[in-house]
Amino acid sequence: MLKFLFIFFMLLISPLFEMQNRKNNLDLVVDSDMTFEQALRGTKAPKEILDSLVLIDVYYYSFDQKMHKGQLVVHKDLKDEILEIFEMVKILKYPIAKVIPIVKYNWSDEKSMLDNNTSSFNYRTISGTNRLSLHARGRAIDINPFLNPVVYEDGKIIPRGAKYDIKRIGTLHPRHPLVLEFKHLGWRWGGDFQSYKDYHHFDKEK
Ligand SMILES: [Zn+2]
Repeated sequence: MLKFLFIFFMLLISPLFEMQNRKNNLDLVVDSDMTFEQALRGTKAPKEILDSLVLIDVYYYSFDQKMHKGQLVVHKDLKDEILEIFEMVKILKYPIAKVIPIVKYNWSDEKSMLDNNTSSFNYRTISGTNRLSLHARGRAIDINPFLNPVVYEDGKIIPRGAKYDIKRIGTLHPRHPLVLEFKHLGWRWGGDFQSYKDYHHFDKEK
């Protein structure tokens, strides 16, 4: 009898859950919804690298305080750690502007940074050198690059027009819980680089 009442009760209130689900779906802002092929279109990466990559969906609050869905192309070995980081991003409500595979910016790191876009895989060299970046293997991620720019020793800042101000929400600094969590997982933070500071950059070589 009790069991019957319980089922009856659940049937009675189930439309409420349904309504809540529908509301959550309506509130979700989709920043990126590509297929794996679309996310890699036009890249010059060799097949062995392409075979090691995966496309993952990530969820985060953006600066509009709404839940957004974005996508990242990462090395398959780092998928779980990235998803763990994004769990923390949600719990902290650390705002991320957008997360869109860089193909949307015609593989231009500069355009992606200017748009404050968070991204990982890009088959490219390290800016100002001819060495392949860890981004070329999906083993690096750049977070809110306009708020967390590259600052050179001579004071030059990339992307142009950006400022590094740790008082602004979404800005990373040495004691930020996300920075600490990345390091705990064995990642390197560009904010610790000696010659210049790359505040948006995290990577893990192995
Ligand atoms: Zn980077």
